[in-house]
Amino acid sequence: MSRIAIVRKKAKLRGLLGIRARLVVLALILVCPLMLDRVRLLEHTRAIQIAAVDASVSTLAQRAADAQREVISSVEAVLKSAAYIHATASQVGRSCSILRASLRVDLPSIRMLSVADANGIIHCSTSSMFVGADVSQRAYFRRALESHDFVVSDFVIGAQSRKGTILAAYPVSAVDSGEEAVLIAGMNLDWLSDIMSNLAGHPGISVKLIDGEGTVLATPPDERSKIGQKLDQATLDFALAATQPPRELKSAYDHAGHKLSVSRIPGTNARLLVSLDEGTVSAAINRDIRTAYLQLALVCLFVLLGALIAAERLIVRPISMLTSTAKKFAQGDWSARATRARLPSEFVPLARAFNAMAAQLGQRERELVATNNSLTVMASMDLLSGLANRRGFQSRLDFEWMRGHQDGHRVALLMLDVDHFKLFNDTYGHPEGDACLSRIGETLAAIANDTGSFAARYGGEEFCLLLPNTDAAAALQIGEMVRATIEGLAVPHRTSVFQRVTVSVGVASALPAGNAEPSELVEAADAALYAAKHRGRNTVVEHGFMRTAEPVSMAIAS
Ligand code: GH3
Ligand code: MG
Ligand code: MG
Repeated sequence: MSRIAIVRKKAKLRGLLGIRARLVVLALILVCPLMLDRVRLLEHTRAIQIAAVDASVSTLAQRAADAQREVISSVEAVLKSAAYIHATASQVGRSCSILRASLRVDLPSIRMLSVADANGIIHCSTSSMFVGADVSQRAYFRRALESHDFVVSDFVIGAQSRKGTILAAYPVSAVDSGEEAVLIAGMNLDWLSDIMSNLAGHPGISVKLIDGEGTVLATPPDERSKIGQKLDQATLDFALAATQPPRELKSAYDHAGHKLSVSRIPGTNARLLVSLDEGTVSAAINRDIRTAYLQLALVCLFVLLGALIAAERLIVRPISMLTSTAKKFAQGDWSARATRARLPSEFVPLARAFNAMAAQLGQRERELVATNNSLTVMASMDLLSGLANRRGFQSRLDFEWMRGHQDGHRVALLMLDVDHFKLFNDTYGHPEGDACLSRIGETLAAIANDTGSFAARYGGEEFCLLLPNTDAAAALQIGEMVRATIEGLAVPHRTSVFQRVTVSVGVASALPAGNAEPSELVEAADAALYAAKHRGRNTVVEHGFMRTAEPVSMAIAS
C-alpha cells in the first residue's frame, strides 16, 4: 500500500473516531460489563431455578417411596399382631368377630383387613363386600402360603372398587402352624393421592404411577385421561430399569427432551415416574430474562443516546460555534463574537479569549489600514512642493484616462519646466532653488484648485497639470495662465534673459479611445515642452499645432 493511501486511511479512521464515536465507545465500555454481569446473573438464576425444581421432583419421588415403605412396615406390624389375634381367637371359634372388634377403624395405613382360608375364600373381612371373594389365584396369596412370610402385592385395580390399591398378605401359619388362613390387608394409599394432588397444576411437571407392564395406574387429577394408557417403549425401558432395593432413583431424558425420574414403590412392581419439562418449568424465569434483556437493551440505547446528545451539546456544538466564529475572523469580520451564554462553562474562558483576540486584532487591523493609507498618501506626495509626486501623478493619469475613456471626454496635460534653473541654483544657491520650487508648487496648487485640474511635480524642476474633460484650446489658455502667473510672481533671476523666474509649457490633449495609452499623452506634452524650450523659453506650445497662447509668439511641437 502506498504511503498516500496509508495517510488517507489514517485520516479516515481519525474521522470515524471523532468525539461522538469515542464517547459512544466509552459509554459501551461502561455499560457492557454491567450488562454482561446482569446477563450472567440471570442465566445463573435460571440454572438455580431448574435445579431447584429438579431437586424437588427427585425429593417427591423419594418421598413417595419413603411413604410407601412406612405404610408397608406399619401394615406388616398390624398383620402380624392380627395373625396372633386370629390364631388365638380361632381356638374359641370367634376369630372373625374378635378380629373385627380388635382392629381400630381409624388405622392410617389400612383400609380393610380380611381373612382368607386355605382355599383362598375370604370368610371374614372388616368390609363386608369382600366376604366370599376368591383370592386363590392372586399371586400375593400364593406367595404368602408358599413363603410363610409377609408378602406385598403389586399395584392392582380393585375388581369392585375400580380403584388402585396394594394388598399385603400374612399367613397365620407363620405364628401358628396349625392354622392355614391368610390375613389380607388393603393398604391406605391416601399418601399417593396427596402426592398426586400436590403435583396437579404444576406446569411442566407430570407424574404417573405405572405397573410392571408400563400401564398408567394413577395420575394427578388434571391428567386423569392418561390412566390405562401404555408408556412408549423407551420410557418403559427406562422406568423398568429402576429395580429394588428401594432407595434407587434414576433419571434420563425422553424423546421430547423431558427429564425423567423414576422410583420404584417398595415391595411392588409399580413405579412412580416423574417427567420434568425444563422449558415449561423455566418459562417464567425465561420471561423474566427476556424482560431483563429488553431492559438492558433499552438502558444501552438510552446510554448511547445520552452519550451522543451530551457529546453534541457539550463538545461538538461549542466547537462548531467557535470554529464558525474563527472562520468569520479569517474572512476579516472582526465584529463576529462567540456567544458565551449558550456555551458550557468550561468553554466560556476560551470564548472570552477568542473575543478578546478578535477585538485586539480588529483594532490592530484598523491601525494597520490607517498606517497603510497614510503611507500610500506619503508615497504619492512630494514634500518640497506640496503636490503629488510622479507616482501620484501616474495613478491619477491612469484614473482620468479611464474615466475619459468611459465618458468619451478628452484629457489634456500641461508639462512645465523652469527656465535656466541650473543658473538659478548657481546664482542663489540650492536652498533658494528649493524655496523657488516650493513657491511654484503653491502657485500650481492654487491654479489646480481653481480650474478643477490636478497638479504634480513630475521631477526636478519639472511640473505638470492634468486637465480632465478639457479640450486643447482650453488647455492652451490654462497653460498661458500658468506661465503668466509664474512670471507674475516676479521671483528674481538675474542670470536669466527674463530677469525673473519663468516656465516653458508644453500642451497636449487626447481622446482616450481604442488602443491609445496615457503614456502617449505624456510624450506629446513633453515634446511640446521641448518645442517651447526650443522656441526660446517662457512660452506655451501645443503639441501638433502651429500655435501658442497669447501674448507670446506662436510655437509648434513636432
Ligand atoms: P532649461 O531652461 O533648458 O531647462 O535649463 P535648466 O538649467 O533649467 O535645465 P537643466 O536640466 O540644465 O538644469 C536643471 C537643474 O535643476 C539642475 C538641478 O540642479 C536643478 N534641480 C533639479 N531638482 C532640484 C531641486 O530639487 N532643488 C534645487 N535647488 N535644484 C534642483
Ligand atoms: Mg529640466
Ligand atoms: Mg529647466
